[in-house]
Amino acid sequence: MKMESFWQSTAPIFTGECQQPLPATADVVIIGGGFSGISAARNLARQGLQVVVLESEKIMSQASARNGGHCNTGVAQNFASLVASKGLEKATEFYRAYDDAVSYVASVIDEERIDCDFRLCGKLKLASKPAHLASLQTAAKLMSETVDPEVMLLSATETRDEVSSDAFYGGLLQKRGGQMHMGKFGIGLAQSAVRAGAKIYQHHAVTALTRLSGYQHRIETAKGSIVAEKVLLATGCSDKGPFPWFQRRIVPVGSFIITTVPLPATQLAQLLPHDRTYVTSMNIGNYFRTTADNRLVFGGRARFSMSNPTQDARSGEVLRASLKTLFPQLASIPIDYCWGGLVDMSADRLPHAGEQNGVFFTMGYSGHGTQMSVWMGKVMADLIGEKKDSNPWGTESWPAVPGYFGKPWFLPLTGLYYKTKDRLF
Ligand SMILES: Cc1cc2nc3c(=O)[nH]c(=O)nc-3n(C[C@H](O)[C@H](O)[C@H](O)COP(=O)(O)OP(=O)(O)OC[C@H]3O[C@@H](n4cnc5c(N)ncnc54)[C@H](O)[C@@H]3O)c2cc1C
Repeated sequence: MKMESFWQSTAPIFTGECQQPLPATADVVIIGGGFSGISAARNLARQGLQVVVLESEKIMSQASARNGGHCNTGVAQNFASLVASKGLEKATEFYRAYDDAVSYVASVIDEERIDCDFRLCGKLKLASKPAHLASLQTAAKLMSETVDPEVMLLSATETRDEVSSDAFYGGLLQKRGGQMHMGKFGIGLAQSAVRAGAKIYQHHAVTALTRLSGYQHRIETAKGSIVAEKVLLATGCSDKGPFPWFQRRIVPVGSFIITTVPLPATQLAQLLPHDRTYVTSMNIGNYFRTTADNRLVFGGRARFSMSNPTQDARSGEVLRASLKTLFPQLASIPIDYCWGGLVDMSADRLPHAGEQNGVFFTMGYSGHGTQMSVWMGKVMADLIGEKKDSNPWGTESWPAVPGYFGKPWFLPLTGLYYKTKDRLF
């Protein structure tokens, strides 16, 4: 079993790294070379601005190429709960932002001809308990009357026709969701940013950020410094770098994934005949999908711990057991890849983006970021380039998580809370 991301290990090599020394100045410096940063770089360079990306490792080394591969519409939380907390108007605006984000990803792939197995397949949320079906029913009714007339509630029998498992009591189908090969997409996006004129520097961790005036900052790395007229922070849930204000608001939560060897096409067709993206309704649940070469990618918040090779292997075992429970017919299928990543969780599970003390930022996608990060790269480029402000998250307040200073000491307690909730409700 390879302890690495399937997406990273089967992606093309990035050939666009800037070989020149770091320039003394730039119009915009972007810190972080995941989807958010690279998408912003592509858009800012297309505006004719001098853009430098500083990435501490290789580009696409964190969440953007370590995720489950779903590119779905819909907010991270139950739509009915979001309406209850934010009101229908805001919740609708937020929900539609995800539709825009998926459409935007599709348009970039089309325009840049990125070969990344993108397809719109729909997302099926699976009720793991009868009570969960009742809550999906409430959400489906509200969604079909407001934001998504195509949404469908499936009975247990209809769900059994979609997923060959006895574990589910029904499902909620959102037809506009998609999926893609995240490594191929990320590298293709980066090559397009370079073609547009962005300069990408890998292994340039930012170690200091000093405000000179207004939006202007000096940014330090071990390999030199640069003065930027504007800075965009796109560091996900990183605890590296001088960003304490953000590190008090983003909680890194480990999520883990296993990927089977390629399965016979007939077996997959029998297992998941509609070949969508799938997510279960438990708090500590699972998500899965297939790949273009017929593997099953199966993930979940197996343990409430950080990702590292030892934890990933132990989490892989937990996931293998869950896979066996949901699909006993796959009990003896060999696992080819196992990896973990850190999800950039915000307390309200909404993205946060805007400007703080002269620094622009976008992060906090809370496990629903493959589409939103790419879209927010465009939105932030428009904001930074003074083209337009279409940031849906700009008016949301963002208080620090109480008692949290960058080390998530409370994760085991949170895990226990959700495990108990899953057991009881
Ligand atoms: C296991 C897992 C499964 C997921 N599954 C899904 C899914 O199926 N669907 C979905 O929509 N979302 C999913 N997500 C979330 C999604 O992948 C992320 O929200 C999204 O990729 C965030 O992109 P980003 O560019 O903001 O952050 P990242 O991809 O994390 O990029 C941030 C970059 O900043 C760099 N960096 C950090 N600190 C510094 C520094 N000091 N100096 C320079 N560079 C720095 C990092 O090295 C990193 O490359 C998942 C996430 C994980 C971890």
